[in-house]
Amino acid sequence: MKPHLVILGAPGSGKGTQAAKLVAAGYHHISTGDLLRAEIAKNTELGQKVSGIMSRGDLVDDNTVMALLKANCDINNVSYIFDGFPRNAFQAEMLERDLLQGKETLAIYFKIDLGILVERVVNRRTCSVCGEIYNLATKAPKVNSVCDKCGSVESLKQRKDDNHDVVVNRLKIFTDTVEPLISFYAKKGVMVELDASRDESEIYKEIEKIIK
Ligand code: AMP
Repeated sequence: MKPHLVILGAPGSGKGTQAAKLVAAGYHHISTGDLLRAEIAKNTELGQKVSGIMSRGDLVDDNTVMALLKANCDINNVSYIFDGFPRNAFQAEMLERDLLQGKETLAIYFKIDLGILVERVVNRRTCSVCGEIYNLATKAPKVNSVCDKCGSVESLKQRKDDNHDVVVNRLKIFTDTVEPLISFYAKKGVMVELDASRDESEIYKEIEKIIK
């Protein structure tokens, strides 16, 4: 089995784009944001509890997210890319204690100048059918409102929390919480940083080397 990957990075740093490429290489992508958004879409009790928190860009409580993650993982049989979890050192400890339990894991930090991210995230659109990620300023679909990858029409959606003020809050929370996470994985000797400002194929080549 390949090592599990914990990908760390600010909103818009390109984690989702690289995770999609890694899925083609056999990884399973698990995003706690996606799991929570699915609960909201299904209008479950959990979805109702987290909807307001997420629309403000604040963090959901650690135990709730951990329980949701655990319920959706088959840790012994699948190599995961953990995206959006952990968000703080306490979650990193929980992930290790309750799920990974010593299994080989690498943490990859997508380092990027945070100053460019508000605009990038506000322009982000995702195809609700195939998951392809676009940016209206730098990677727009070839035909307006049509997904290049799957051809779906009017399927490009903006996340509710990808608006200016909420992104500013999400970036602030990221800045306030990332250092202890980096230290956690650095102390374990499994922390790798990459320059996420480069073009997506170059970044992927580097990730391929890291996981080899
Ligand atoms: P993301 O898709 O990773 O940008 O997450 C979207 C939102 O989901 C965040 O702004 C939080 O409200 C919530 N969320 C996702 N993952 C976590 C987590 N590990 N801990 C707390 N809240 C989370």
